[in-house]
Amino acid sequence: MRHYDVAVVGAGPAGCRAARLIAGAGFRVIVLEEHERIGEPLQCSGLISPRTLELSGYEGELRHPLHGFNLHSPAGHTLGFQTNKTYAVAVDRVALDRQLAEAARSAGAELITGARVKGLEDAGDGVIVHAGGRKVKARLVIAADGARSRIARQLGLYPREVVAMAAAEIELGRGSRAREEVVELFLGEDFAPGWFGWLFPTGKGRARIGIGVGRKGSSPRRCLDELLKRYPEYFREAKILRYTGGCVPIGPPPRIFAERVMLLGDAAAQVKPISGGGLYLGLHAAGHCARAAVRALERDDCSAASLASYQEAWEAEFGPALKSDLVLRELFLSLNDTKADYLTRFFDNDFWRRFIARYADIDYPSVLVKKILGTGLLPRKFFKLALSLGGFIGRMVDRAENRCLLPLLEGAGKN
Ligand SMILES: Cc1cc2nc3c(=O)[nH]c(=O)nc-3n(C[C@H](O)[C@H](O)[C@H](O)COP(=O)(O)OP(=O)(O)OC[C@H]3O[C@@H](n4cnc5c(N)ncnc54)[C@H](O)[C@@H]3O)c2cc1C
Repeated sequence: MRHYDVAVVGAGPAGCRAARLIAGAGFRVIVLEEHERIGEPLQCSGLISPRTLELSGYEGELRHPLHGFNLHSPAGHTLGFQTNKTYAVAVDRVALDRQLAEAARSAGAELITGARVKGLEDAGDGVIVHAGGRKVKARLVIAADGARSRIARQLGLYPREVVAMAAAEIELGRGSRAREEVVELFLGEDFAPGWFGWLFPTGKGRARIGIGVGRKGSSPRRCLDELLKRYPEYFREAKILRYTGGCVPIGPPPRIFAERVMLLGDAAAQVKPISGGGLYLGLHAAGHCARAAVRALERDDCSAASLASYQEAWEAEFGPALKSDLVLRELFLSLNDTKADYLTRFFDNDFWRRFIARYADIDYPSVLVKKILGTGLLPRKFFKLALSLGGFIGRMVDRAENRCLLPLLEGAGKN
């Protein structure tokens, strides 16, 4: 049996980035990936912020900029804006994964594909990782094995919620209303219960589409078909080139570390609760995870107490933003079609469109909401609606120990 300092389970972006950083610090690292080909099967729409583009070091050819958003309410009202700012970039996700895997290899990590990890076994001075017929021993394990993490389950660590998604790459039909540089977001309880649908072009007449199902009982694929039917002006004559899908975990488990183990990326639900995007947070978390790993290995102390510094550093950087986003997620779940329609219509005027265009940030959506609340410009009717959900929001705020959104709601409501 071969011995390593670190075994990383899962060669996704988070695992590969952590592997590169730890191998780069001089430790023996093995990455075990269940699939034969890195990045496949694809389970992502590949929409990232310019920040994430930079952080990932992505060098792929496809980098289609998106300069605006249209939000379509359930009753068919549209709130939209387009500016010269790049809010998001569509990339080739498979290329991104392969590049990060190659970087890990170049830094000295060993990468084995076709190695599905079945479980971990405590060996006293390390952990034995069972991957099919193969066994390796490591001082430390990083579980970067995605949204359905087997290791997180083995440790009894679950996210608060899991959203199922169906997505596809399409060729747009002639005359589609989709605009080259605009992301379309579709709200509707029947085709995207507890989530939303999306469409964004990637150039050359192609686009990526998808829906999420945040409430049980609906089939994601059926919901995607419904979206296509509901908006013929966008999807008439569209040709599906390939389906993708998967699920995203929302709301991290209470702990993202255990004795000799750290959870990373989707396995730790390091995902934005409003959009389901996980690349920005996962890549950032990989840095925190790698620093904690290097420290623990240098001190030869991979105990849970020593690895707690990983969660502390992660929460210090992203805890407040994530808690605010979780409150917004609960608010979103409380909206029915009528309320979603009212809000879309309310903000559809020049002032709010410019305001939203200025502060919209796909990595930090709650910043925009706080800015809106901070203006004190919202009328009583809005606060009646918001505060009618307030008891619920209040409970969430308390649970999250987040004191920033509710006072803003209440304070502004008095104006
Ligand atoms: C439909 C859909 C669209 C999305 N669109 C976006 C988007 O546009 N932008 C964005 O930022 N995020 C998006 N996401 C989320 C994003 O894909 C994830 O957050 C991201 O991939 C997480 O990276 P990761 O490295 O943690 O996990 P993953 O990328 O899931 O990698 C985990 C790896 O572990 C491997 N693995 C799993 N189990 C085992 C095992 N037992 N043994 C060995 N290997 C194993 C898997 O094969 C995989 O390679 C989307 C998700 C879905 C489902």
